[in-house]
Amino acid sequence: MGSVTTTIPVTDQREAVGHAVRAAYLYSAVADVAALTGDEKLLLAIDSIWQNVVTKKIYVQGGLGAIPSGERFGENYELPNATAYNETCAAIAGVYWNYRMFLLHGDSKYIDVLEKQLYNGLISGVGLDGKSFFYTNAMQIKNNFHHHSMEPERSGWFDCSCCPTNISRMIPSIPGYVYAQTKNAVYVNLFVSGKATLQVHGKPVSIIQENNYPWDGGLSFTVTPQKNDDFSLLVRIPGWARNEAIPSNLYTFTGSQQGKVTITINGQPVSYITEKGYAVIKRTWKKGDVLKVDLPMDVRRVVANEKVKDDIGKVALQRGPLIYCAEWADNNGRAANILMPSDAVFEARFQPDLLNGVEVLQSEVPVISIDEKAQTVNTSRKTVTAIPYYAWANRGKGEMMVWFPEKFKDVDINP
Ligand SMILES: [Zn+2]
Repeated sequence: MGSVTTTIPVTDQREAVGHAVRAAYLYSAVADVAALTGDEKLLLAIDSIWQNVVTKKIYVQGGLGAIPSGERFGENYELPNATAYNETCAAIAGVYWNYRMFLLHGDSKYIDVLEKQLYNGLISGVGLDGKSFFYTNAMQIKNNFHHHSMEPERSGWFDCSCCPTNISRMIPSIPGYVYAQTKNAVYVNLFVSGKATLQVHGKPVSIIQENNYPWDGGLSFTVTPQKNDDFSLLVRIPGWARNEAIPSNLYTFTGSQQGKVTITINGQPVSYITEKGYAVIKRTWKKGDVLKVDLPMDVRRVVANEKVKDDIGKVALQRGPLIYCAEWADNNGRAANILMPSDAVFEARFQPDLLNGVEVLQSEVPVISIDEKAQTVNTSRKTVTAIPYYAWANRGKGEMMVWFPEKFKDVDINP
């Protein structure tokens, strides 16, 4: 409907178009072939297409493919909230693609986007029960608006059931995304507790990660080479810990970051250089060396580029890699009536019994109510609770918002 099909050789493509899932699979393959062949035309094409997506065509929770008709990418900056499509498979394809872009360039910005997708718009595709799934991942649900492709709750199965099977294949592959290697360097890309054994210079090196990520920014790595060995450990310092909401100007944090990144080895501060978003720690590693990295977990306000019409005057909330939303279940049955003024102060609190254990954000902010009898619109201050976006729609159907108007004048009376 309305879209024109043209055929352009992949080497001439500069913009992400068409069916988002199939496109991102194609881009994954292009990145692989470009890495293996060094073909400059493919490199230019895939770098341009990635730049186009990250500067103009990705939702704040990492979702790809804004438009329901054709399950496709929208025009530049066309990221509507009311009708967002965001197929689960597209977020999965985005992880495949960004991982290959990392392998191609060794830059952490690709893992920043991968992490954004993985922790937000990808795992939102599966319910906390592990057996209910979203095909599309909404950006907002309002009581007074319905759309044919909008899913306010997850389903057990679909007629076209790509997403459940794709999730089932994706989740077990996550360990493969945690580390990467070159001859003299080990990359730590994701922060997941566990033990891994890698071969460095032909000898085993074990790395034990212990953390409570993404709730806590304290990361511990115990490194044990079979024999003392010289190599570099490259630890990704996430963009969000460096005051960067996404590696482009599509989304930015407002206000300043209070916390800062600290790194120690065996309790001593360590000097390091930063290269392509990685803290490069080059040393002779000895059995039982303990590297500790502390990432600041400030609650951040995210604003979109002013060219994204739907997000003008609105703010989203992020803590660590997680994008938050407000859901009806925590907020007196509504979410579309919440304002988030620029001076709102947030308290982050871990709630072990809520949604399998989540850090919630709470703030006292103005909430709108309509008195239909008196025909008046009122605001009153209420404590509002936000939960991680991935955990929404696990307690029944109702309103959900990711972007909140800062001022009353920016409230959409219509969707
Ligand atoms: Zn799918």
